[in-house]
Amino acid sequence: MTKTPRIAVVGSANVDLTTFSDKFPRPGETIFGQKFDLGFGGKGANQAVAARLCGAEVVMVAKLGNDLFGEATVKNFSSLGIDTKHVRIVDGVSSGVAPIFVEPNGQNRIIVVKGANDTLKPADVDAAGEALKHVDTIVLQFEIPMETIAYTVQFAKKNGIRCLVNPAPAQPIDAKQLNAADYFIPNETEAEVITGIPVHSIEDAKKCANALLQQGFRKVILTLGSRGALLASAEGSEVIAPFTVAPVDTTGAGDAFIGSFAVFLGAGFPEKEAVRRANLYAALSTTKVGTQKSFPTHAEFEAEWKKRGNG
Ligand code: ADP
Repeated sequence: MTKTPRIAVVGSANVDLTTFSDKFPRPGETIFGQKFDLGFGGKGANQAVAARLCGAEVVMVAKLGNDLFGEATVKNFSSLGIDTKHVRIVDGVSSGVAPIFVEPNGQNRIIVVKGANDTLKPADVDAAGEALKHVDTIVLQFEIPMETIAYTVQFAKKNGIRCLVNPAPAQPIDAKQLNAADYFIPNETEAEVITGIPVHSIEDAKKCANALLQQGFRKVILTLGSRGALLASAEGSEVIAPFTVAPVDTTGAGDAFIGSFAVFLGAGFPEKEAVRRANLYAALSTTKVGTQKSFPTHAEFEAEWKKRGNG
C-alpha cells in the first residue's frame, strides 16, 4: 500500500454467545448443551477488525455496557491496535449481546439484545468529531440508532470525508436521510427489503441497484454472495466476478467485504480493483469458521492475491 488508510467505524459491538445443543428446553426445563463458544461480534466491530487486519489505522466510535463483555471488547480492540478513545462504557445498560442457539443440523436461532449500542447518539459523534475529521473514510451499519447514522452521513458530507453505508441488518429506510453517502452497500436480502425487488438473478440485482440510484444514492454495490458484487452508478453497472473458494462458514463475509473495501479504496486502488480485492478478502473469510476469527491478515490476503495471478 502506498499510503496508510485511516478508517472510522461508527457502529455496534456485540458479544456472540453461541450454544450448541441437540435439543432445546421446554418451558421450565433445564437441559445440558454440548458446546459453547464466546466470540466478539457486532457488524461495526467486525468491519473495524477487518479494516485493521487489512492494514488501516482504525478509530472505533461505539458504546458498551459496564460489564465483563464491555471491558473484554475494549481489550480485544486494543490488542488489535484499534483506537478505542471513543469507545465509551456506559452504566445502567448491558453491552450488546447475541445469544445464538445452534442445532446439530446447523440451523440457528439468534436473539440480539442491542443494549448499549442503542445509546450511541449524535452527541457521541460530535464528541469524537476531531478524531473523525482526520479519517479518510467513515463506515456505518444499521445496528445503532438511525438518527445517529443519518447524522454521521451529514457529518461526513460536511467535512468532505468518504462515507460507506451498509444497511445491515435489513430494514426499510428513508433514502433522503442517507443518500449523501458515497457508497450504499447492501446484500441481496437488504436490497430486497429496501426496494421491494427480490434479487434472484443478475438482472434482478441490476433492477434493484437502479431503484436505489433513483432514490438518490450515487454509487451502489450490491454484494451477491458466491456471485461476487454488482457495482452500479449513473455510468452503468458491472458485475465484479467472485473468487472461487471452498466455503465452510459464510458468517461475516459481508463485514469482511465492507471493512476491506474501505481500506482498498483508502489506499488509492481504482474502484473496480478495490471491489475485486474486497471480493477476495471476503471469499477467504468464508474458508474458516467464525466471524472476526475468520478474517485473513494483510499478509495472508496479499499472498493469496498474488497466488491467484494478480499484482
Ligand atoms: P452477507 O455476508 O452480508 O450475506 P454476501 O453473502 O453477499 O454478504 O457476501 C459478501 C461478499 O463475500 C460477496 O460479495 C463475495 O465477494 C464474498 N462471498 C460470499 N460468499 C462467497 C462464496 N461462497 N464464494 C466466493 N465469495 C463469496
